[in-house]
Amino acid sequence: MQLVRAELPFIADCGLSNCRLNGLPVISEEEALERILSKVLFLPPTEVFLADALDRFAAADLFATIPLPPFDNSGMDGYAVVAESATRDPRLKIVGEQPAGVSKNLSLSTGEAVRIFTGAPMPKGADTVVMQEETQREGDFVRVRTKQISEGDFVRQAGADLAIGQQIIKRGDRLRPTTLALLASQGIRSVTVGKRAQVAIVTTGDELVAPGKELHAGQIFESNGVMLAALVAKADAKLSMRRHCRDNFDALCAALRDATQYDAAIISGGVSVGERDLVREALQEIRAEIDLWRVAVKPGRPFLFGKREQCRIFGLPGNPVSTFVTFLIFVRPILLRMMGAAEIGLLRARVRLGHEVSGDETRPHYFRGELKDGQFKTVGRQESHALFGLTRANALLRVRPQEKLVAGTEVEVLLLD
Ligand code: AMP
Ligand code: MG
Repeated sequence: MQLVRAELPFIADCGLSNCRLNGLPVISEEEALERILSKVLFLPPTEVFLADALDRFAAADLFATIPLPPFDNSGMDGYAVVAESATRDPRLKIVGEQPAGVSKNLSLSTGEAVRIFTGAPMPKGADTVVMQEETQREGDFVRVRTKQISEGDFVRQAGADLAIGQQIIKRGDRLRPTTLALLASQGIRSVTVGKRAQVAIVTTGDELVAPGKELHAGQIFESNGVMLAALVAKADAKLSMRRHCRDNFDALCAALRDATQYDAAIISGGVSVGERDLVREALQEIRAEIDLWRVAVKPGRPFLFGKREQCRIFGLPGNPVSTFVTFLIFVRPILLRMMGAAEIGLLRARVRLGHEVSGDETRPHYFRGELKDGQFKTVGRQESHALFGLTRANALLRVRPQEKLVAGTEVEVLLLD
C-alpha cells in the first residue's frame, strides 16, 4: 500500500478496514492518514537568514561550491617541513613564518622549515607539519626531536572533507546546527526553506477553567491548550492563535471562523457524540468540509479531519492522552509535510518488551511506556484521561487488534523525546 513508506511503518498493518464500532462507522487508521496526507497543501518556500533557519526544512538540493578544507593547511602549531629531509637531518633552518589568515606564498626545500600555525596555508614544497611540542628552537634553526615523522602528518588536505560538487543538503532536510555551519562554511548567508505552518488552537469545554483562575465544583483546569501549543512548537510550526471556547454554538462558529484563517486549525474536545459536542455542527455551519470522522484507533476514536479553503482542520478528542496521541499520529506528520520536511515519522527503536501486552479487540492500541536500558514497559494508567501516567512515558508501542505480545518479544517503539 502507498503509505507503507519507511517513515510511517506503524500505519502499514492496521488490521481494520472500514467498519462499524458501537453502531457508528469508523475508518481505519491507515486510510485516515492516507486521506489526510493526500490533502496536504505544500506551503510556499521562503528565504531566511541562517540565524533564523534552525529546524526549518530545505526547499532545494544544495551542492558544495567550495572544497573543505578550502586549501592545504596545517593542523597544528609547529613547523612545516619536508618529511624525508627532517628524518635524515633533524636540524632545519627556519626560512619564514606563516600565520593563519594570510598567505605569504612561502616555499621551502630540503634542510629548511617554516614556523606555522593551525589553519595556516602550507608553504610550497612542505609535505608535513611537526608539532611544536616535538621540536626545540635553536636560534635561526629548529631541531626535530621525534624520529617518527611520516609524510602528510598534521597536514589537512584541500577537499579531503568535502569536494566541490558534492551534495551538502537534500530537499526536505531539517537544518540542524551543524548543517547551518556547513552552509556558512560555503559562504552562504541565507537559505530557501519551506514556510512555517501557522497553526490555530481552539480548546473547547464548559467544564474547563484557565490555570490561575478559581476552580468551582465540577470544573477542571484546561490543560490541552498548553500541551498542544508545545507540541506545535516541537513540530517547528508557528502558533498563531490560541483560544478557549465554551460549548456554545455561536461562540464556537466564531472561533472556528477565526482559526481557519491559518494553515492548520487544531480543535480539542467536542468532536465526540455527546449533546455538547458541537464541533462537527459548527464546522458545517461555517462551510468547512468534513473529510473523515471517527477512526479505529485507541485512544482517539472520535478524531475528525476536514478543511476550509487553505486550512486543514483537525478535531482531536479532549481526553489528554487522546489529544496527545492523535496529534502525534495525525497532525504532526501533516504539519511537517506542509513545511516541506522529508522525514515526517517519529524516530523508532527496536527494543525488548518488558512484560506481556494484549491489544484491543478491534482497534490498534497505542500503549504509553517507558523505554529504559533497551526494554519497554508500559507506565501509568493506560486510560485516555490519565495525564500523569502519560508524563512518565518516553515511548509509544502500537499493538495491532487482538495481538498478544509476550515478555521478551522484540518490538519497535516510537520515541517521544
Ligand atoms: P470531550 O472530547 O470534549 O468530550 O472531552 C473529553 C474529556 O476530556 C472530558 O473529561 C473533558 O473534561 C476532557 N477535556 C476536554 N478538553 C480538555 C482540555 N482542554 N484540558 C483538559 N481536559 C480536557
Ligand atoms: Mg467537551
